[in-house]
Amino acid sequence: MKTIRNTPILGFAAFSGTGKTTLLEQIIPKLTQAGLKLGVLKHAHHNFDIDQQGKDSYRLRKAGATQMYISSRYRHAMISETPNEEATFEELLEQFDHKNLDMILIEGFKSQSFPKIELRRQALDNPWMHPNDDNIIAVATDIDTEKELSKGFNAALPQFDINDLDAIASFIIQTVAPSKQSNADASAAAQCCDTLSPAFLSVEQGIERILNAVSPLTQSTTVTIDHALHHVLAQDIVSSINVPQHTNSAMDGYAIRDQDVALESFKLVGEVMAGQSYPSELNAGEAVKIMTGAPVPSNGTTVIMREQSDTFEKDGQHFVTFNSALVKAGQNVRLAGEDLTIGQAVFSQGQKIGAAEMGMIASLGINECAVIRKLKVAIFSTGDEVQHPSQPQQQNCIYDSNRYALMGLLSQLNCEIIDLGILEDDHLAIEHAVSKAAVSADMVLTTGGVSVGDADYIKDVLEQNGNIDFWRINMRPGRPLAFGTIGDTPFFGLPGNPVATMVSFINFVRPAIHKMQGESNWQPTKLRAIASEALRSRHGRTEFTRGIYQLNEFGQLVVSSTGKQGSGILRSMSEANCLIEIDPLYAKVEPGELVTIIPLNI
Ligand code: AMP
Ligand code: MG
Repeated sequence: MKTIRNTPILGFAAFSGTGKTTLLEQIIPKLTQAGLKLGVLKHAHHNFDIDQQGKDSYRLRKAGATQMYISSRYRHAMISETPNEEATFEELLEQFDHKNLDMILIEGFKSQSFPKIELRRQALDNPWMHPNDDNIIAVATDIDTEKELSKGFNAALPQFDINDLDAIASFIIQTVAPSKQSNADASAAAQCCDTLSPAFLSVEQGIERILNAVSPLTQSTTVTIDHALHHVLAQDIVSSINVPQHTNSAMDGYAIRDQDVALESFKLVGEVMAGQSYPSELNAGEAVKIMTGAPVPSNGTTVIMREQSDTFEKDGQHFVTFNSALVKAGQNVRLAGEDLTIGQAVFSQGQKIGAAEMGMIASLGINECAVIRKLKVAIFSTGDEVQHPSQPQQQNCIYDSNRYALMGLLSQLNCEIIDLGILEDDHLAIEHAVSKAAVSADMVLTTGGVSVGDADYIKDVLEQNGNIDFWRINMRPGRPLAFGTIGDTPFFGLPGNPVATMVSFINFVRPAIHKMQGESNWQPTKLRAIASEALRSRHGRTEFTRGIYQLNEFGQLVVSSTGKQGSGILRSMSEANCLIEIDPLYAKVEPGELVTIIPLNI
């Protein structure tokens, strides 16, 4: 059961007219009689006001208090203005006094991921919601559901008569607070409902929990700049010089004094090559020939490009002329220190070093710098059917692709890989490997074996040895995901299907690696593109479709899917240059609508 600060939350999914509020009103007393302390969070679509005109609190609020707290012996209330954006679902849930609650019932917030009971009445001609909403854990209806299987009804979900309020209430009690149930088989019922109420998390909630659980490495090492690419700085870089050192010419041409721009012709008095300088000041009407990058004379900070000049000779003396109308004082020079000045803070600790940063650090005359040491990541694949690519293919087996895809992803992130190979589906072998890996590595990644299959041993082993949660994330592809720690070492059990492995890595492991490498404010690059075709999605879960984005003939960013999206079709990742991220709010995307894309390989 999803909980917020250990308080379970539960909602009801129904089309309007089903009588949700009336049902809640009737069920709440049954729950409170069973001893549950209840909170309710309700979403209002309109600009509601609970504070009546003329009351003192109203007057003080209207006078300008954005938070108005009113209290009496019997109840108290905070009336807050919501100035810019509405508070998030999580923020609202945080407002409750959790220590005095057993459960929060939610009305509305239908795009949020949390367990819900679907309500449906025969009298209303609506479709079933649960085929399109993975958050639904039970159904309450007055329809004969035997005949509904062809309409998508899922007979595996627990179902109740919508008028049998006792049955619905007792299901809620069993699911969220079995200890409150009076009847004798309470614990058996609770066990059964545990598997019915998996911890559903949204992608954002999953990422947030992971980021809260991992900490940056602190140990640093020194690298020379030629080996600094993709490292994260463990020191600040301050410039001890001006870049450029001198004001210099941006063109091959002629340098003159600023105050001489109106003159037509100049006497040529010298030539300055790159690496040299003119030894004295210019006199009125004098010019020097100058090459790009060469320091200009100290009083000659206007340069005219060679293509705009003519030279002539008179009495053995060389002259140069320009069209003075085109010449502006101070043009075509690069000022000393215009890139970096002495004492300037150039980079701070935590800066990731890319190509430009390598160049900039070198431009300061710095040859080595302190960086966070490489993150050591241990990886292994699991599965009796999984085979090393060097072996002849055996019956009923597949070659290990996940470990290699992970090696690629980890190398792009500059990690040191500890490759522990393929483990058979064997409790002891997995236990041994996981505990050994957790000692030598900063992070352990496995793929496969985290679902509920008989041979999914990772789950068993970690339940015994680690502090691990098994999450069902509301996303496709990608769930399930195991995350936690073994000792102090973060552990990710990624799903076995190759696309799900990569998509889970990109969404959950990559942010953790960036944080552990000292880049705490790292954000994935996300862009908006126009869908050039209809895209499959489902209400209540995030869909990651493999996509190809490009500019269309009008220069707009458009995106289409790579075609078949099965989570075993690794080719879809190879053909893609982005993931299309479709928000749980949308049941589908029509051509022409805007979607979010996460470019790959950048
Ligand atoms: P599992 O989560 O172990 O049930 O695996 C789910 C699916 O992913 C199964 O079809 C596995 O055969 C497949 N799979 C698991 N590990 C790998 C791997 N290392 N490389 C390719 N496919 C895998
Ligand atoms: Mg397996």
